[in-house]
Amino acid sequence: MEAVGGLHHITCIARDPQANVDFYAGVLGLRLVKRSVNQDDPGTYHLFYADGHGSPGTDLTFFPWPDLPPARQGVGLAVEVALAVPHGSLGFWAERLRWFGVALRGEEVRFGERALVAADPDGLPLRLVEVQDRPFVPWEESPVPASWQVRGLHAATVRVAFLGPTEQFLTDVLGFRRVAEEGSWVRFAAGPGGSGCWLDVQEDPLGEPGRWGVGGVHHLAWRVRDDAHQAQVRRRVSWAGRNPTPPVDRFWFKSVYFREPGGVLFELATDGPGFAVDEEVDRLGSSLVLPPWLEPYRARIESQLPPLRYPPDVEPVRPG
Ligand code: ZN
Repeated sequence: MEAVGGLHHITCIARDPQANVDFYAGVLGLRLVKRSVNQDDPGTYHLFYADGHGSPGTDLTFFPWPDLPPARQGVGLAVEVALAVPHGSLGFWAERLRWFGVALRGEEVRFGERALVAADPDGLPLRLVEVQDRPFVPWEESPVPASWQVRGLHAATVRVAFLGPTEQFLTDVLGFRRVAEEGSWVRFAAGPGGSGCWLDVQEDPLGEPGRWGVGGVHHLAWRVRDDAHQAQVRRRVSWAGRNPTPPVDRFWFKSVYFREPGGVLFELATDGPGFAVDEEVDRLGSSLVLPPWLEPYRARIESQLPPLRYPPDVEPVRPG
């Protein structure tokens, strides 16, 4: 069996789309590579941030759902997003986040990795984790110099009531490997392992169930090479009794969804065709893009969406 690769994307929930663009593009300096709508709820944006080319494994996406209550972090949910930043950049990032009034919770070391711990404007827990030499495509127009830019997704963190069933599913069905433990944390590696391929699991038998909401993670998508690889892993998920959906065509990739035994929503997403299938690479994110089946409704969809200012125009709250 071919295991899943590393993280493909992480999808989270935000309140206000403009505040989300201002933070992720304006402050963190990620590129908005796709401005689309939630295909299951086309009155809502779906915003995709990534490196300069929208490479798989660099993609953090958001549904802005202003009417949802705040997330309740707890068991059965992914509870943090860890982004890879270059070695030696935490000082730069601490200063930059302070300029923009972002609340910092200081530095932490987990699994031997130094991280700056912060939260986005909606309270989503973020870790900026120092990594060595991770390849990425810089975004030339980022407000952050290429030498300090975010390299991509580093790790996902989930909290489950019982480690056993989740571990067995991860290793037997998806091909993860258990590679480390520290305190209440167990680290699993997908595919080749390394930055972008980590899943950190925390067992919390007495923890309250989590609830989706603003400032929370919605789902974790894992890389599969192509349709055939996806079908192979999907079959195994089905044999394990996890009721995967049929493949859904998300136009930029194909997706299969299911819950792992601890309750966390997982997706298997194909590497291709990718974000450049319907926009030139240098135009990525510059206008609202709809999959072909929603194109006939463009006028109505656009009239329901709030306007979005991009590139964002953000000012430091403290002079640098
Ligand atoms: Zn997804």
